[in-house]
Amino acid sequence: MTEKVKNLIIRPPIVAVLGHVDHGKTSLLDFIRKTNFVAREAGGITQSIGAYEIIHNGKKITFIDTPGHEAFSKMRSRGAIAADLAILVVAADDGVKPQTKESIEILNSAKTPFVVAVNKIDKSNADIEKTINDLTANGVLLEGRGGNVSWQAISAKTGQGVDELLDLVLLAAEMENLTYNPDADAGGVIIEAKSDNRRGIVVSVIAENGILKIGDKIATFGAGGKIKILENFLGEKTAELRPSSPALIFGFENLPQVGEKFQCGESAAAPAADIISPIPRVQEIGVPAGGYFRIFNTILKADVSGSLEILSEIIKNTDFGNIKINILKESIGEITDGDVKDAVNSNAVIVAFKTKINKVAESFVKAQNIKIISSGIIYELIDLLKQEARLLEKPLPQAELEILKIFSSPKGKKQLIGGRVVTGVIKNNIRLKIVRENNEIGTGKISSLRRQKQTVNEVKTEEECGLMFESDILIKEGDHLLWM
Ligand code: GDP
Repeated sequence: MTEKVKNLIIRPPIVAVLGHVDHGKTSLLDFIRKTNFVAREAGGITQSIGAYEIIHNGKKITFIDTPGHEAFSKMRSRGAIAADLAILVVAADDGVKPQTKESIEILNSAKTPFVVAVNKIDKSNADIEKTINDLTANGVLLEGRGGNVSWQAISAKTGQGVDELLDLVLLAAEMENLTYNPDADAGGVIIEAKSDNRRGIVVSVIAENGILKIGDKIATFGAGGKIKILENFLGEKTAELRPSSPALIFGFENLPQVGEKFQCGESAAAPAADIISPIPRVQEIGVPAGGYFRIFNTILKADVSGSLEILSEIIKNTDFGNIKINILKESIGEITDGDVKDAVNSNAVIVAFKTKINKVAESFVKAQNIKIISSGIIYELIDLLKQEARLLEKPLPQAELEILKIFSSPKGKKQLIGGRVVTGVIKNNIRLKIVRENNEIGTGKISSLRRQKQTVNEVKTEEECGLMFESDILIKEGDHLLWM
């Protein structure tokens, strides 16, 4: 064996918990955290840094403690990649659900080994057999049931089976032979990053190789600095931290992204100059086709980059009826006067998640009559946004025609045009609104309707037709005519 291999040291596993919403991921993470002695010795943990460490049977395990929801798949997939192992939680009273399937896909594509926790077995309607069959149907073959995926029936509520589950996690970790080189420059993953007025930029990381040391240079692709203060997950200051132990780092000059890889030491690549400045990500979203959406401009603010990403993703995945939510800008930290100015200029609403407004901006807001929607609960925020959007909402048209061709120049007010019915049924003699590039520009009336040279009274969805249209407005190809 070479010298190099001799130097390698076993490191604890980094574990992520995945599964469908409400299946008990948070409860399991809370139970494990509460019942391990490291936390008790330190008088309990008050802050979450996105990960924590426990000792089970004298061995360490690190858990990634990120929130789970259907819209978090991006973070979850990153969580799975940052993790050496995963626990797939499936509630025995509910079986395999869409996000269980999604989690299985994420784990398979990231090739992350996992154990299954069949949860909520304390419930009277728990059906372990059905849950196992569901898993089998989804390609997860459990040990003793024709496969080799370890599993344990548990209750995150009573704690039944949780010790045995942790045994399985340690066993799976042994199989992975996780090691690190103590002489290498430290490298690993960014778990959480935030900036606040009191402490500046605070970044939690987990190293997978090397040893984190005070004074080390540290960099990700887009951010960098020097480790000035190093704390463990209990908030205790330390001079160095070994791989797999969650670490809190002070000394980044700008904010790294959650899920990014980091590297320490002289060899740490200097971040690209154009990315280093903390410019908020600006997004322009195109005007939707169809012409009758209302655009609702928003500026998103959140406490940390992880929650900003979640907020933005949930907004993009939420149905706001015929209102299109346009995210003009998104950034982390307090609401500043700059944000308020942007809101004034673009007539936008500021959507703030777990963050406050600074003093200067507050006086601005009063003077400018700017609306801020704020909450520490994401779904409350979405509900408030929906209420706000509803104020703008217009009824959808009963029918809509897209103009494909202009057959003749107008004679008086009459123009012969051709189109295709996009939705509903277009009828003779009805009055229609004319929409061009998202703007209503006038109205007109159908005075005759033809389909394949026959005069007809109505034309249905997907059908093409010719019509004599009476209006002061000169119709153009691409216009939309709406029957409200
Ligand atoms: P998550 O969305 O996957 O994080 O699920 P939570 O941990 O928030 O759990 C959702 C709900 O199920 C909560 O009301 C929990 O109290 C409950 N729950 C979680 N685990 C158990 C369990 O083992 N038994 C019972 N009876 N309830 C549980």
